[in-house]
Amino acid sequence: MIYLDNSATTKVAPEVLEAMLPYLQEEYGNPSSKYYTLAENAKKAVENARLQVAQLIGCEPDEIVFTSGATESNNMILKGVADFYSNKGKHIVTSKVEHPSVIETCKFLETKGFKVTYLDVDQYARVNINQLQQILTSDDKPILVSIIWGNNEIGSLNDIDTIASLCNEYNVFFHTDATQIIGKVRVNLNQTPGIQFLSCSAHKLHGPKGIGVCVIRKHKLGFKTKITPLFHGGGQEKEYRSGTLAVHNIVGFGVAAKIALANFEDNVKKLTELEKLTQSILVSKFSDIIEFNHDDTNKIPGLISIRLTGVNNELFIRKVADKLALSTGSACSSTKPSHVLSAIGKDLNDVRNTIRITLSPDTEKYEIESVLKKI
Ligand code: PMP
Repeated sequence: MIYLDNSATTKVAPEVLEAMLPYLQEEYGNPSSKYYTLAENAKKAVENARLQVAQLIGCEPDEIVFTSGATESNNMILKGVADFYSNKGKHIVTSKVEHPSVIETCKFLETKGFKVTYLDVDQYARVNINQLQQILTSDDKPILVSIIWGNNEIGSLNDIDTIASLCNEYNVFFHTDATQIIGKVRVNLNQTPGIQFLSCSAHKLHGPKGIGVCVIRKHKLGFKTKITPLFHGGGQEKEYRSGTLAVHNIVGFGVAAKIALANFEDNVKKLTELEKLTQSILVSKFSDIIEFNHDDTNKIPGLISIRLTGVNNELFIRKVADKLALSTGSACSSTKPSHVLSAIGKDLNDVRNTIRITLSPDTEKYEIESVLKKI
């Protein structure tokens, strides 16, 4: 069986597992404890991982807050900014194609009296920047803009540089959900002023599940950016996120980030080659019925979203399940028709014909060739 659902999650890399194991066995200290070796070792391991993740994202280590994953990070930023800055305004801007952890949080905030604008998107699910600019220059200036960097269903990248610099120019906080692009698209927050907050998760880059980060950038003058914490408690993570740190998971994220950074160019090259190969096999196999949902340029390397006219995606995926692991779109919303495909103008038939194939740099060419040709 070959695994082609790497946007849902990835296999933990052997080096990651190896680095994590001591922190589940002999090095079990709590990094918030003090003075004795077990605690100090745990603390050192956490700080080392913080540096490794910061290097992948291009920010300062003290701007990294460890969370349980991107769902928590997205909740933390949206609710935390909404609560802390509600005296400055109650308007939040996002888009129609965000991950449910953003959209559902926005819906929740609407019930608490916030106004949310869901920006329209083009045929590839990229936000309309003119619409954003109009809102930023209007009397109803938002307190926060939250836009996904790379779409988890069809892979299109938003023009995050332009969006971030617009938000910067109009002095509005900007958050981006970068969960699907970390390790696949170069990110350097130090060179992208305007991104104040970023969410991502280790399990999309061969790290463990249940660990993510929320990047909270310092204010231009060096102050910490304040938000209301989602969790109150012992004050870990400099009061931003209480709860005993999951040292083994944090160490795993650090190593996954280090590997992703070291292999960045090779990984992108390999994903691009594998993507071309997969597409050409699919086109020759399904030439009469295949259409692509994704754009060819400005996309996440290794994500392919196709429609096979007349083929029910659920039935197809079940039929090939012993040979191939595929997805209809996103793992998180597999019970509802895709809001992303609806937002880009696809009808219910298109949605039912859609299959997402997502590759990993670990996927082997020969596996794709041998398995895809047989289906
Ligand atoms: N945002 C995006 C774009 C995602 O793809 C996912 C995972 N499917 C999440 C957020 C949620 O991440 P996590 O699983 O770490 O909660």
